[in-house]
Amino acid sequence: MDELSILNELRKYRDMDLDYEDGTILGSMCTKPHPLTRKISEMFFETNLGDPGLFKGTRELEKQAISMIGNVLGNKDAFGYIISGGTEANLTAMRAFKNVSKKSGKSLNIIIPETAHFSFDKAKDIMDLNVIRPPLTKYFTMDVKFIRDYVFDNPNKISGIVGISGCTELGSIDNIAELSKIAVDNDILLHVDAAFGGFVIPFLYDKYKLKNYRYEFDFSLEGVSSITIDPHKMGLAPISAGGILFRNNSFKKYLDVDSPYLTEKQQATLIGTRSGVGAAATWGVMKLLGTSGYKKIVNDSMEKTYYLTRKLREYGFKTAIDPVINIVSIVDEHKNETCAKLRENGFHVSVSRCVDALRIVIMPHIEFEHIDIFLDCLSNTKRY
Ligand code: PLP
Repeated sequence: MDELSILNELRKYRDMDLDYEDGTILGSMCTKPHPLTRKISEMFFETNLGDPGLFKGTRELEKQAISMIGNVLGNKDAFGYIISGGTEANLTAMRAFKNVSKKSGKSLNIIIPETAHFSFDKAKDIMDLNVIRPPLTKYFTMDVKFIRDYVFDNPNKISGIVGISGCTELGSIDNIAELSKIAVDNDILLHVDAAFGGFVIPFLYDKYKLKNYRYEFDFSLEGVSSITIDPHKMGLAPISAGGILFRNNSFKKYLDVDSPYLTEKQQATLIGTRSGVGAAATWGVMKLLGTSGYKKIVNDSMEKTYYLTRKLREYGFKTAIDPVINIVSIVDEHKNETCAKLRENGFHVSVSRCVDALRIVIMPHIEFEHIDIFLDCLSNTKRY
């Protein structure tokens, strides 16, 4: 095929995809990346951070991007990588848990909430983790008293705890401050999955913070050993820019395998060959937006989240919880049916599994008028 025909053919397929701008993608944690990332993607499209000695400049950008994110997370000494997303980050953290516990002789019992993303099910499957699921409070956070007692009753048996800061389904935030104390008191690792919340919570205005949640989640809490934070979600970096940060580089030895034929003789990431676009674009977008840019994006999304919630109540709908971050959960006993009907009408929401509810994520591509049109459609859907 000649180039023009290929591009024309590709365009046909690309046109089958949805556009964020239409405001019909209401259940995704991805959004249209910042326009600057187009230029950066082109500049870095052939880079490979799997062999960093060949791409020293890109590797330096990755280090600086990690340092910038570390600063947002209260730790300028953080060590980590810009990888392919939250799944890889969580798998990496669980791999560190596994190798640290192997060294200390502890069995691989890990406390993970019911609200955790399914990437932890993959980790469980790959690494044969023994997962303990604590009960949830009415705010959809882990019951910390249960965890404290459980750890006390099973001395030296728990190797790690996972807390979620901005859970995928509802946006709830575990009490990381208390989990941190349990981790420190019992010499247990604590991983925080802030894949979504990591680029939201640090920029959230106090007026949106609910009194039933503790919003602290970062390395300023002594017990936090690692954090997943995805620039490709609310960070506006291109799809497939994820982040894994550890408290310091002492964790590297638990991840390294020998990579004798590459320019660096050890490799810590799960993925070998990996594009440098995510690292460069994370660096660029963070430099461009800065704290004030992210504050605007996050709090505009929160304003729309509150608008949707208020309107839903006017229409007679209930939410499972008050919005903790920019996620709205609409109680619906027939969630799958409603979701399918909405899809027929062009709206793509998702459903929760820990509660009967539709799940809406108010990403930056959602505008007030999209919300109005969606509400009309939802109320008509539920009427019949
Ligand atoms: N962790 C949380 C809290 C998430 O919400 C998600 C995705 O929505 C992930 C992990 C997985 O991220 P990814 O789809 O980028 O692998």
